[in-house]
Amino acid sequence: DKGERIAKVMARAGLCSRREAESWIAAGRVSINGRVLTTPAITVTERDKIVVDGQPLQARERSRLFLYHKPKGLVCTQRDPEGRPTVFAALPPDLPRVMSIGRLDINTEGLLLLTNDGGLARVLELPSTGWLRRYRVRAHGRIDQETLDRLKRGIAVGGMLYGPIDAVLERQQGDNVWLLLGLREGKNREVKRVLEHLGLVVNRLIRVSYGPFQLGDLPVGTVKEVPGRTLRDQL
Ligand code: URA
Repeated sequence: DKGERIAKVMARAGLCSRREAESWIAAGRVSINGRVLTTPAITVTERDKIVVDGQPLQARERSRLFLYHKPKGLVCTQRDPEGRPTVFAALPPDLPRVMSIGRLDINTEGLLLLTNDGGLARVLELPSTGWLRRYRVRAHGRIDQETLDRLKRGIAVGGMLYGPIDAVLERQQGDNVWLLLGLREGKNREVKRVLEHLGLVVNRLIRVSYGPFQLGDLPVGTVKEVPGRTLRDQL
């Protein structure tokens, strides 16, 4: 057994990225068989006892990621002061304890990412991650090509700059339009605020993708685990 680089083993355990592992080692947070590591240039095997921040590596839960099709009517906070129903109370009971990566408003539907890994959630919520989020929107009103182009250039609403937002008119349905929007930021109520500013009132909002992950035909209210390598390895 010739072993593996320590940083790789830590990343696979779902604890951190390889690069983070190296900086944790440099900071003296990692020990092997009771000795604090000073260099990441070391290979370890199954028999080595790795301790990170005083906790054995093996005891740390594997980092897991889930796709959830959020129905309308649920809030994404763990506990709602107004007592409204939460996503977390509605999840299947066999899931580990999870948090959401970002939030959707109570009446927004569609793809919500869930993870048991707080560090991963924080990284993916950072504005700098800039993952494309796509929404299918039904709004009361009309929109022309010039306005769609304005969204692409970015738009100021109430002192806040939003966008650029990719916007495609999918169809007109009676007094409503269906739009497909693509945003790379997750500002509070961004879609509703921007469209309202343009005279459109959103009456259905469905997130259909988040970065590389698609809602697809996942049934409403159900959860699907993203299999295979942890996301941290891909970041
Ligand atoms: N924009 C909104 O207005 N609401 C959401 O839930 C997500 C994006």
